[in-house]
Amino acid sequence: MPYNLNLIEKRPTFVTHLECAYEGDSYLSDKIHGLSKVGKPLLVRYDLDGVKAALTKDILESRPMDMWRWRELLPVRDTANIMSLGEIVTPLIPLPSLAKKYGANAANLLVKDEGRLPTGSFKARGLVMAVSMAKELGIKKIAMPTNGNAGAALAAYCSAAGIETYVFCPDDTPEVNVREIALQGAKTWRVNGFINDCGHIVADGEEAKGWFNLSTLKEPYRIEGKKTMGLELAEQLDWELPDVIFYPTGGGTGLIGMWKAFDELEKIGFIGSKRPKMIAVQATGCAPIVNAFEAGERHAKPILDAHTAAAGIRVPAAIGDFLILDAVRESNGFAIAVDDEAIFEVRDRIAATDGLLLCPEGAATVAAWELSLERGLIDAQDKAIFFNCATGLKYPMPAANAFIDRHQLIDYDAMG
Ligand SMILES: *Cc1c(COP(=O)(O)O)cnc(C)c1O
Repeated sequence: MPYNLNLIEKRPTFVTHLECAYEGDSYLSDKIHGLSKVGKPLLVRYDLDGVKAALTKDILESRPMDMWRWRELLPVRDTANIMSLGEIVTPLIPLPSLAKKYGANAANLLVKDEGRLPTGSFKARGLVMAVSMAKELGIKKIAMPTNGNAGAALAAYCSAAGIETYVFCPDDTPEVNVREIALQGAKTWRVNGFINDCGHIVADGEEAKGWFNLSTLKEPYRIEGKKTMGLELAEQLDWELPDVIFYPTGGGTGLIGMWKAFDELEKIGFIGSKRPKMIAVQATGCAPIVNAFEAGERHAKPILDAHTAAAGIRVPAAIGDFLILDAVRESNGFAIAVDDEAIFEVRDRIAATDGLLLCPEGAATVAAWELSLERGLIDAQDKAIFFNCATGLKYPMPAANAFIDRHQLIDYDAMG
């Protein structure tokens, strides 16, 4: 039994239908769907007037501090299908040393630390939703391409739900992720290619293996889970959205999801029309969205020789590219790339000065903030949110080999 199921009361649900994000045509809810007829992502739509009548800020305040407090804006119908492993509300951690360096206010530079979620990354938000919906819809077998964190979350929730999983990782996925996925119960393969090559194996195997394809944005519910980052942020900031959000963008689920969340929050009367600038952060070795943004295009060209140690954002082609680019442009934001050198310099510096161990993707957002300041794209006084999407402990760290021979005289002066 999920850890806190007894705390999640039965509440009415408000899903009305699904909608093609590209064409706007409707699809029935409560049925298994992948992509729309034109091969684009499907978005879940709700009776927002109904939600508005059912959910008040006071009611919300009385609920446990986990993502299920947003039940009315989430798709699961039957509480018994919620496969929770403890999806807490993640904290906002200030960066006072960084703020001091730039003459900023520490209260305005906040890391949303998603590394504290089950399986150590924000993929838990998307996967708990997708797997709960898979359970609700009777899906028994799931396959997924992953750069690591999504596969781990998929494996964990599916094991809990009794769903069989097949996971395919590029062979240079961080070792800890591959082992974690296998240990959590998925049939796991390393593939000599990128995540989109793994995606082809999943798509081509659908007929032979009868599995459901849970690739990013190729099913409708992961985005609904990721959306809770936006809902949470709004509540944590007392219903006043920040000025800028720096989001490390791979498939873009989180950025698209938050943008959708803000719209829904406004329609249920919880926030006004102010929106943050959405900043899509990528690595210079794999920046399809940045290229498209700069070229003024709505779709991104795939990157052929993608490379960056920030595995979570090594996504050469994203099916939701137009949704990412639309949100970035509508928000008056931008897309920006930082190189791996800057990513690791920031990771090491923030760990040693502000005490927070960021994952490389999270460090990329801080590096992008610094670069944006340098280019005059933002102001140091803007209230900025950085997404640290996974625990820094999952990634290789610099060696630390200082040694003491306890049988020799110990030279305390040499310790510095
Ligand atoms: C998946 C992932 C990302 C990218 O998230 P999207 O919402 O798919 O763009 C960034 N960082 C980490 C650590 C990830 O696991």
